[in-house]
Parts: sequence; C-alpha cells; structure tokens
Amino acid sequence: MIPFSPPRIDERTIAEVTAALRSGWITTGPRTKEFEKRLAAYCAVEKVIALNAWTNACELVLRWFNIGPGDEVIVPAYTYCATANIVLHVGAKPVMVDVLDDFTMDPDAVRKAITPRTKCIMPVDIGGLPADQQQVMRIAEEHRSVFVPNGEVQQQLGRILVLSDAAHSFGARIGDKRVGAIADITGFSFHAVKNLTTAEGGALALNMPKPFDNEALYKHFNVMSLHGQSKDALSKMQTGAWRYDVTMAGWKCNMTDLQAAIGLVELDRYDSETIPRRKAICERYNAAFGADARFVAPVFADAGREGSYHLYMLRLANAAEVQRDAVIAAIAKREVSVNVHFIPMPMLTIYKELGYRIADFPNTFNQYSREISLPVYYDLTDAQADTVIAVVKEAVAEVMG
Ligand SMILES: *Cc1c(COP(=O)(O)O)cnc(C)c1O
Repeated sequence: MIPFSPPRIDERTIAEVTAALRSGWITTGPRTKEFEKRLAAYCAVEKVIALNAWTNACELVLRWFNIGPGDEVIVPAYTYCATANIVLHVGAKPVMVDVLDDFTMDPDAVRKAITPRTKCIMPVDIGGLPADQQQVMRIAEEHRSVFVPNGEVQQQLGRILVLSDAAHSFGARIGDKRVGAIADITGFSFHAVKNLTTAEGGALALNMPKPFDNEALYKHFNVMSLHGQSKDALSKMQTGAWRYDVTMAGWKCNMTDLQAAIGLVELDRYDSETIPRRKAICERYNAAFGADARFVAPVFADAGREGSYHLYMLRLANAAEVQRDAVIAAIAKREVSVNVHFIPMPMLTIYKELGYRIADFPNTFNQYSREISLPVYYDLTDAQADTVIAVVKEAVAEVMG
C-alpha cells in the first residue's frame, strides 16, 4: 500500500524531541523562541509567532482586528473548511468567491464581492501555489474609501486587512519574496500532513505596514494566546518573578517546545531536502500526465511565482464527478492512497444549511469534480511514484474506457 502523505520522522527528529524532553522544559520555551526567530529569518519578516494550529492563530487575528457580527470576510469557495470556520467563530459572515483554473481565488470576483461590511480578505495558496496576493493587496488599497472602520486597530489600518491562508505554501515565492512577506499577516499550518510539520502547529508572519509595530503586535498575540496573562511560563520561571496580571479574557493556543523541536529539524532541511524531493516527485508526475490528453496537470510555477509543491492536484480532462469517484475507487483497489482537495465548502452540510449553493461557484465545482490528489512526500521513492502513475492510468482506462 502506498500511503498519501506520512510525515518524515527519522532518528534526527526523534533525537531532537528526546533532547527537548530531557531538558525538562516541554511547554513554550527556548526551542519555540528559536523556531520563531528562524521562521522570521526564513520569510524575511520582522516577527513570527508560533502557535498550536493555523486555525487558532488566524482566529486570533480576526479577533485582534475586531471582526464580529455584521462584518464580512471574503474567502474562496474552494478551500479547507478552516478558512471559513474561523469567520463563523467570531460571528462574521464568510463571503465566498469562485476560483481560477489554477485553483486560486479569482481577483475579479473579489472586487465584485467587496461591500462596506468587508473587513478582511483571505486568499488561499491552495496546493502551495500562491494566490495573487499582490493583486489582493492592491484591491484592499483601492477600496480604502469604502472601508468603514470599527475600533482603533481598523482605524489605524484604514482599509481591508489581507490575511493570507498559507497553510500549504510555506517556502513558496512571489517574485523575490517568500510567502509571509507580502500580505499583512500570513498564517502557516504545521499540521502532520503539511510540508513542514510540528505534529500540530501553526504560525503567523507579522508584516503589518507602518504605523503598526510588529514587535508590539508579536507581544500582543503572545498575551492573547496565553489567557491574557502578562507573563509567559518562561519569564515567570525567573527567580522572584512570580507576579503577573491578566489584561483580557484571552485564549490558549501556544506552541510547545516538543512541537518546536520537530519544527527546527524540519526547517533545517526544508530547502536542502524537503522541497527538492517534493519538486522532483511533482515533475515526475507532470512528465507522465502533462502529455496525456486524458489529464490536466497542475501548475507549480510561472513567471511571477513558485509554489511549495505541497499537493499534486491532478484533474481528469473530461469526467463527471461520479466518474472521478469511480476512478478513485479503482485506484484504491490497486493499493494507492489518493485524496480530493477539497470538497468545496458550499457542498458541506454546515454551509448548505447557511444558504451557500455550489451552483454559485461554477469553476470551483468544475475543478473539484475532476480533481484527484496523488501522494507527495519526502520518503516516496521514484519507483513508488512510477507505480502511482501506472495505477492512475490503469484506473482511468478501466473507468473511462
Ligand atoms: C490545514 C489547513 C488549514 C488548517 O490548519 P490547522 O493547522 O490544521 O489549523 C487551513 N487552511 C487550509 C487551506 C488547510 O489546508
């Protein structure tokens, strides 16, 4: 059986987690702080805060920006539910828009969706290919005059906040900038299936324009992520430094040093091993599927951007949803694990009940209904990739004739 995306766990990972355990410091501490510094250097941003998941990290951002009932947040219809779920958590309305053929959010659809209630736009770098974040930043600038600020933070920005969902795209590039250094704030996920993992985990790259102080914002998110407590466990450890205050009813979503220990190993070999291996697998698949008229191969790079090779999002050239499903069953029978990224949010019960209709997002449905994600992970061998290719082609021949 070829699995879909097991994490890379080797003796080095085990040794670093063991060292963290033996150090006696297992919650947020020196390893988390080191991981944050190295993430910030990698993305070339002033500050990065590491937290326990993309979901909680980005929800803190919406709360910090004072987004709530009556507000709208623009998201693509084609993404994992987390992107819109956090909007519901804060009581605001996810406004969904359709995607382009490369799966990223359609900037023209974003323009049309803006209203005086729009507080945030969340482009998603699906599969690791960056959405046109620069254009989304321009759209936010161009709509300054329609923005109705509520509260001090919104007043200070004076426009729609751009929060990038970069759960898939750590290390991806737009022009000469890494993802993280383009949008106002970027959320990364280090969940077990993502390119860079800490088992569970996430981070925010803080790139707010002046007059925002990203250092102060980093401190603020630390406090928000620890019950509003003015001192974290590490600073309270200093002899005699026991007294603290609580300034807000905060949340609890800090990263532990056990997670950071995994992350430091992952980051160390990300550019030298992880990305080159993932890229080689994706290129091997592209060589096999790109020239075969029965398939549409995904885009990984073009003149302005290069993705992170997170998912290999293959599409069947001409297939109805039921045929795609039958192809997946025929692949599974041959002991290869594949997936579909993603079931569009308007097709999920919670969003259907809220009145979203997939018919309003025709290109989202068109891409989804033909999509099959193939295994991509560090330990996948060339021989296994060739098995995947052979099995997919056999399955398509069996189902489609
Ligand atoms: C995985 C994922 C998330 C959520 O990340 P967590 O770290 O699991 O909270 C958000 N958006 C997208 C597109 C994802 O794939």
